[in-house]
Amino acid sequence: MDLIRPSDLSDDQLDHLLREAEHWLEHNRVADKRADRLAGRSVVLAFFENSTRTLLSFDMAAQRLGAMVTTLPAEKSSVAKGETLIDTALTVDAMQADALVMRHPEPGAPDSVAEVIRAAVVNAGDGTGEHPTQGLLDTATIHHHFGRVEGLKVAICGDIRHSRVASSTHALLERLGAKVALAGPTALMPEGHDGPDGIDEAVAGADVVMMLRIQRERLSADLGDKPGEYLERYGLTEDRFKTAAPGAVIMHPGPMNRGVEITGELADSEHSLITAQVEMGVAMRMAVLDLCINGSDDTA
Ligand code: ASP
Repeated sequence: MDLIRPSDLSDDQLDHLLREAEHWLEHNRVADKRADRLAGRSVVLAFFENSTRTLLSFDMAAQRLGAMVTTLPAEKSSVAKGETLIDTALTVDAMQADALVMRHPEPGAPDSVAEVIRAAVVNAGDGTGEHPTQGLLDTATIHHHFGRVEGLKVAICGDIRHSRVASSTHALLERLGAKVALAGPTALMPEGHDGPDGIDEAVAGADVVMMLRIQRERLSADLGDKPGEYLERYGLTEDRFKTAAPGAVIMHPGPMNRGVEITGELADSEHSLITAQVEMGVAMRMAVLDLCINGSDDTA
């Protein structure tokens, strides 16, 4: 199956992925990380936008499951010679890959690829569209920490307008019964929003505060924020975090701009689940690749 957006998953598949990710999380903590769910299978990673965590974790996930992993060096590929994305995808398909994990700046690009290839398409981020595996790993991290998602108050703050993480994480958390508040400066909120930034209101009493980076590469105008100004007005400072619920946690999908949307101290504090998100990222992507290539038999 393809995974392009959270709504591609049935409730059973979502439950399955949350359970399986827990299994792989434990599995990855032992010295010998080999598994054979994808032994003999071929996984291609094609990233036409920058990535650190997503690229590395899909690569590790596929390798730990025993797959043969090939990474297309996008900037050196024939796309740079004018080949269309569809022709590139058909090429990968003709090579009998079992899955194509792709990141692309164009929202909807994975849909057009999935229409024409046989291999499973996994969306690793399509421009400002969706980032389903980030949404899944965020949800799994929250579920792991609190033992539930239902009833939690989650604030997602920052550049909501350009964030595919906000879309996918919001959709999954609400589906599981969390109360999600999206907040950010007006220029970084979805089209049509003209209210106040709402950050203080969103953080107050929140169980989870997730901060997002300003996606400057997708901004047409300069925000005009002087150094330090963004942090004071919209970022996660000690004073703001103090208003969150007792036991509240801090999340961030990365890459982080310390001192802009979050202070370095809070990012490194005992309240932070940021590295837990990264660890869950590998586990969740193992669960996703297994589901997309093999279907949904539990391994746990
Ligand atoms: N890493 C996330 C993404 O690829 C968030 C970000 O880039 O700010 O969407």
